[in-house]
Amino acid sequence: MKYERTYNFSAGPATMPEAVLEEIRDEMMNYRGSGMCVMEMSHRSKMFQQIADEAEQDLRDLMGIPDNYKVLFIQGGATLQFSMIPMNLMKNGVACYVETGAWSKKAIAEAKKVGEVKVVASSKDKNYSYIPDCSDLDIPDNADYVYICENETIHGLTYSKLPNTKGKILVSDQSSMFLSRPCNVSDYGMIYAGVQKNVGPAGMVVAIIREDLIRDDLESLPVYMQYKAHADAGSMYNTPNCWAIYVCGKVFKYLKSIGGLEAMAKLNEAKAKVMYDFLDSSKMFNGTVAPCDRSLMNVPFVTESKELDAEVVAYTKAAGFENLKGHKSVGGLRASIYNAMPIEGVEALVECLKKFEQERG
Ligand SMILES: *Cc1c(COP(=O)(O)O)cnc(C)c1O
Repeated sequence: MKYERTYNFSAGPATMPEAVLEEIRDEMMNYRGSGMCVMEMSHRSKMFQQIADEAEQDLRDLMGIPDNYKVLFIQGGATLQFSMIPMNLMKNGVACYVETGAWSKKAIAEAKKVGEVKVVASSKDKNYSYIPDCSDLDIPDNADYVYICENETIHGLTYSKLPNTKGKILVSDQSSMFLSRPCNVSDYGMIYAGVQKNVGPAGMVVAIIREDLIRDDLESLPVYMQYKAHADAGSMYNTPNCWAIYVCGKVFKYLKSIGGLEAMAKLNEAKAKVMYDFLDSSKMFNGTVAPCDRSLMNVPFVTESKELDAEVVAYTKAAGFENLKGHKSVGGLRASIYNAMPIEGVEALVECLKKFEQERG
């Protein structure tokens, strides 16, 4: 059966691979002879444990996660990590943050409630349109970690090269780029990602954390805020987000089936090229980010005026393309072209924008 579906350019929750949605549909009423939907299943059952174990193993295979890293599935989205990270990782009470946009600003604001935050680089001067030079940051000896938002979803920035942390551990928010390309996990102390951007349904974060960073001297912290509680309980300290674990597990298997992260990266590069080549050739539409720092996942762009931007949003919506309005904090337009957006969707969008430009230009 074919369903009528739109090309959904939402920044999150975002489009999912159709093959995965179809599998979930087929398993909805009776998951593998259990007579239940996974939604109805005890998280303590053998069947669900197997779903969770496979999800973790498939993610480990995809990313090549070393054995000395724990994989945790935690609720509270990426936002809870803005607090959990400083609460767990600030031993000396000092951390360095790179400020590249809205999401790193939020992380900085929460970390300041826990300890001393040193903003070691910022692109605020140019409205977060570039990644600052991070090759020689002024990192104090007692800093506990260096924090980055590796892909700024709202501003459309990504790092082409990781910061030189001068031996300190790197903590990265990969929410809007998770599994979009190969990643060398051992370059990081911790990677985390809210899954609703590039992987699954909202309400869960995947945290990949080096074992020696998980502390057992934090009894005074609320238990849910301790990585140790989640690690010791295999991410089932309380009822986990079973549905998200199930769906993410399917997406991990899907990514393996199409050739893993290298194949995914090639596709993402091809899709982004279609978008950026168009923006670079258009007279009406302009990208807002320095070319070397452009995100492969979130493509912000503008016309000469707010009024025209709004017209474009209405025009694309009428043509069947959803969620192209830029984030309310920056305006303009934004096409989020995550893993699950097919290249046909990007090509069709570019055709639509070209048509608009011709009609109006
Ligand atoms: C969406 C997003 C978040 C927040 O995610 P929630 O799950 O809503 O808490 C944090 N960081 C980045 C980079 C994001 O894109």
